[in-house]
Amino acid sequence: QSKPQARVDGSTGVKFSDVAGIDEAVEELLELVRYLKNPELFDKMGIKPPHGVLLEGPPGCGKTLVAKAIAGEAGVPFYQMAGSEFVEVLVGVGSARIRDLFKRAKVNKPSVVFIDEIDALATRRQGIFSESTNYLYNAATQERETTLNQLLIELDGFDTGKGVIFLGATNRMDLLDPALLRPGRFDRKIRIRPPGVKGRLDILKVHARKVKMSPSVDLSAYAQNLPGWTGAKLAQLIQESALVAVRKGHDSILQSDMDDAVDRLTVGPKRLGIELG
Ligand code: ATP
Repeated sequence: QSKPQARVDGSTGVKFSDVAGIDEAVEELLELVRYLKNPELFDKMGIKPPHGVLLEGPPGCGKTLVAKAIAGEAGVPFYQMAGSEFVEVLVGVGSARIRDLFKRAKVNKPSVVFIDEIDALATRRQGIFSESTNYLYNAATQERETTLNQLLIELDGFDTGKGVIFLGATNRMDLLDPALLRPGRFDRKIRIRPPGVKGRLDILKVHARKVKMSPSVDLSAYAQNLPGWTGAKLAQLIQESALVAVRKGHDSILQSDMDDAVDRLTVGPKRLGIELG
């Protein structure tokens, strides 16, 4: 039986400086880092350790990146799995994976456990009442509930507050089981919002640092003219511009390369159709 293993990066290497637009949350994030760097100090000072942190926001705006940056700044191992990897019809498989994930994180604490798309496994539990007041469960629902219960057990567990921080990410907070949001489980929520003009500019700057960008390129024009573009799409824009520049034999990214890349990312499929035709 194939068993997805948590992906572990010894340390993710991601820093807060790699994430744009988190100024509002930075103090809260730093507190988590301070804790991970020295859980014993919190214990000695009688400070209640942070348990779970829910990162909430639309896809592609940097939830995974923030989670990695917390581990990266603290220099601790990062155990990542997606909510969908726990959803199995075979009874007990999901909960065993949860147990395994936390066990490995505890062995290597201080550490961070990150479950992306947590809504996939932690949707509101609901028995469907029939006329005769019997709960009608199907096997998949039952399995998901067993998995969610195991997650709640881990979060309530004594050790979770001792050097293991649990981070969950969702873009569907409304679907989450209220039990998960009770104090002592996810006791903090951090909203990761879609970027505005300044956020888009900061994101472009973060990614432009990683490539060879001509100083003549006016990034603020792109930030202004690309409303609705997420961090993920803007990161892709920079990568695509670099590819265009290489293809055209430029030794740094020019404005025209950026324009071509915007064009490709906006009307990609149509253009591909023409090229293929
Ligand atoms: P999903 O919900 O789809 O998992 P997410 O919110 O977790 O999305 P990420 O996977 O963190 O988004 O973002 C994808 C990539 O987009 C990142 O690896 C990064 O390159 C870029 N990116 C997204 N948001 C930001 C940001 N705020 N600052 C810098 N880069 C960003």
